[in-house]
Amino acid sequence: MHSSESTLQQDTGKPLAAIIIGAGFAGIGMAIALQRAGVHDFVLLERSHDVGGVWRDNSYPGAACDVPSHLYSFSFEPNPNWSSTFAPQAEIHAYLQHCARKYALAPHIRFGAEVANARYDEDRAQWRVTLKDGSTLRAALLISGTGQLSKPAMPRIPGLDSYKGHAFHSARWDHSYSLAGKRVAVIGTGASAIQFVPAIADKVGKLSVFQRSPAYIIPRPDKPYGSLSRMVFRHLPWAMKLHRAAIYVRYEARALAFTRLHGLMRYAVAKPFHKLLARQVPDAALRAKLVPDYPIGCKRLLLSSEYLAAVSKPNVDLVTDGIRRVTETGVETVDGTHHTVDAIVYGTGFAATEFLSPMRITGRAGVDLNDAWRRGAQAYLGLTVPGFPNFFMLYGPNTNLGHNSIVYMLESQIAHVMRCCKAMRMAGASTIEVDERRYKRFNVGIQQRLSNSVWSGCKSWYVDENGHNSTNWPGFTLSYRWLTRHTSLNAYRFTQPLPQGGAIVAAPADTEERVTASLLRGLLRLSFRTLIGPPFGAKFQRGVVSLLSALMPGVGGVIRYRDVVGNIPVEIVAPKRGDLDGVVLYLHGGAFCLGSPTTHRSITTRLAVESGMPVWVPDYRLAPEHPYPAALEDALACYQVLRNKGYAPDRILIAGDSAGGALALSLALALKQRDAQAPAGLLLISPVTDGALNGTSLATRRHADPMIRKAWLEQGLHWYRAVLPDPLQADLRGLPPILIQVGDQEVLLSDSTRLAEHAAACGVTCRLEVHAARWHVFHLQSFYLRSAREAIRTLAGFAQACVMSSASTAASATRARTAYSCDQPESSGSAATTGPTASVSNATATECLCP
Ligand SMILES: Cc1cc2nc3c(=O)[nH]c(=O)nc-3n(C[C@H](O)[C@H](O)[C@H](O)COP(=O)(O)OP(=O)(O)OC[C@H]3O[C@@H](n4cnc5c(N)ncnc54)[C@H](O)[C@@H]3O)c2cc1C
Repeated sequence: MHSSESTLQQDTGKPLAAIIIGAGFAGIGMAIALQRAGVHDFVLLERSHDVGGVWRDNSYPGAACDVPSHLYSFSFEPNPNWSSTFAPQAEIHAYLQHCARKYALAPHIRFGAEVANARYDEDRAQWRVTLKDGSTLRAALLISGTGQLSKPAMPRIPGLDSYKGHAFHSARWDHSYSLAGKRVAVIGTGASAIQFVPAIADKVGKLSVFQRSPAYIIPRPDKPYGSLSRMVFRHLPWAMKLHRAAIYVRYEARALAFTRLHGLMRYAVAKPFHKLLARQVPDAALRAKLVPDYPIGCKRLLLSSEYLAAVSKPNVDLVTDGIRRVTETGVETVDGTHHTVDAIVYGTGFAATEFLSPMRITGRAGVDLNDAWRRGAQAYLGLTVPGFPNFFMLYGPNTNLGHNSIVYMLESQIAHVMRCCKAMRMAGASTIEVDERRYKRFNVGIQQRLSNSVWSGCKSWYVDENGHNSTNWPGFTLSYRWLTRHTSLNAYRFTQPLPQGGAIVAAPADTEERVTASLLRGLLRLSFRTLIGPPFGAKFQRGVVSLLSALMPGVGGVIRYRDVVGNIPVEIVAPKRGDLDGVVLYLHGGAFCLGSPTTHRSITTRLAVESGMPVWVPDYRLAPEHPYPAALEDALACYQVLRNKGYAPDRILIAGDSAGGALALSLALALKQRDAQAPAGLLLISPVTDGALNGTSLATRRHADPMIRKAWLEQGLHWYRAVLPDPLQADLRGLPPILIQVGDQEVLLSDSTRLAEHAAACGVTCRLEVHAARWHVFHLQSFYLRSAREAIRTLAGFAQACVMSSASTAASATRARTAYSCDQPESSGSAATTGPTASVSNATATECLCP
């Protein structure tokens, strides 16, 4: 299918629903799925001028699939006309052209459109894709279908460019050049070479096959389908389905040998290999050269009934000495022999571990995918990476197979992408992003399973330079399908950007979370909202809060101890694991009159575990016994103790919830007033920011809020008698990056939204997260709610990024790049410090810009 360039809009037009890159099996399958789901505003970008992917490019003589075609094709588009068990390349290519035609994909495909880079625009929740010609497109979703085997790999041999004869890679076969009667060198003996060597052996004059390492080769039982079989398949579709199912079961069973019962390889591979070798290679010396010295299956198993016979031919020479260099006229081996040839064919395979390269994919906060993959490519289900919202990779890391059809895997992935799209729609979200922890856990599991597989026994193209196997799936294709189709979508976070910046975070949609949230809402409404506030006194309210907090436990993995610092009792929650040199000063909420380190353990312990940093929780003096400025003085004193203990300001995060959030802000402003160096960041959960209680949500969320009555806020503020530096009016310039989290069902919602707007106006980097269907400091219920645990994890990630960013800026001016990495702003509102000793590191803190 060679379509003319379609007229698709550029960046200036309306953003598309999706951009798919690549028109191979993956891209075509994805496009069809979108069409079928009624999504029509998408574009498929293909750098070449036809569909087909590897089946367009690999037109070398003898090219064919090595998984039977009735399985190596789309399940929804069976083809009764396959000519043989393993269809030749031209037929597979024609099949893909037929699919594109039948499903009317031409208007969506843009040929000659090579994607150079893609950058995620966080404010718009869109991907901006730039093509090699400089044109740009925007879309909500970016789906790559660029394959693992679409980049031919050239060997690193000295003198490659000096060769004056004819040379090409097997994936770019030069059909205009006749090999007839020529002296030809074939470098490489992988899957492609074993197909084209027998196909050209009889035509060429002399064939020198340069082998670095032999492969286990088993017969390929190829048979033509007679006209009767094809007629049966045409008229009895169920017979064709049955045939496909039988092939599937046969191939799927092989996964056992690859991943669990390696001993089976002896029967399934070693025996047939040696039998074939004995039959086709009479010369014992040649036979010896063809026997691999690594465990069976470790490198790709090859299927051919002709290759071994071909290398036995008199005009074929199997060269096993290493190649020293390529000369102007041929190939020189390490033993000094020069092989003069008219042509060289590189059968050296593909750069399988260089996923997506040379495209540059930049995610949230400017994080480059290559940086995220410094230790090897990996993805959740091979599809998604944290920090790269709305981005799916088809045939991504660890989804290659040694035993079955990639098209089967692709169909599982495509169905998963469609599931995610549906879930986004239902959550009213415009972004989807995999949770970092689920991503890490999934990949640790994958690598553990791979370490027990046959692929861990040698060096192969499955493994990258760091020894990381980023290509293969370590199990059954059926288990992969089950995971992609049926595992919960809890691994993903769904959000919707707010027009003023920040995002609405959708509540998890699973039944357990919904029911739990409803029960908690009811419990809080009956207990907290009813009993906290007037007409009850402080003592009674503190008793109720103590009882309720017993129902909100923290987590293990921490060491808790009490200390008295500068007359202030402090609970220190230190994580058992974690070596980040930072600390969180956490100021608990409770309208300045309630609460203690004990009542907030459900937050502080998780924050410590997730951030890997100790959390200091001062038991500051409460009103009405100790009105303003007692609490602020205690917070300041505690901060000073941290400084005295050697924590530099850019290692300290100030955090707080509700009135504690107000205290955290007051503390940051007090430090600024004293010209002290700014801390690393501020973490604010539903902070009180308007002492006059003028926020509109006090009225609009009055009934929705299950926790807070306005009367309680009035009581608390009255008891505290605060003379707060109104943060909504104050000059916030010079404050460190702020992350605010608030529930959309709370009366204090507008305190947060107004603070975020004001902070932005002051040039302070501030990210606002409004959690849908959640209430005031829902984090306290983290024992029950996944949404609360994830929110705390986000706070922890932000805290880590701010500390790491400060550290790396101070050390080498290189910026930390994590999902919440801090970045350098264009201009930092650096009016903060003038103190000579503080200025350098304060610049560090104020230059830190978090998303
Ligand atoms: C010779 C050969 C034989 C194989 N045989 C089998 C087999 O028998 N069974 C099996 O399961 N698997 C086989 N495979 C693996 C094969 O890669 C997959 O089965 C499948 O074809 C992958 O499809 P894909 O669409 O993901 O990738 P590809 O087919 O590689 O298609 C990727 C497409 O993306 C395009 N592209 C890449 N980068 C860009 C860019 N920056 N901008 C725009 N377009 C871009 C490419 O031009 C290409 O068209 C074989 C592979 C090869 C090379």
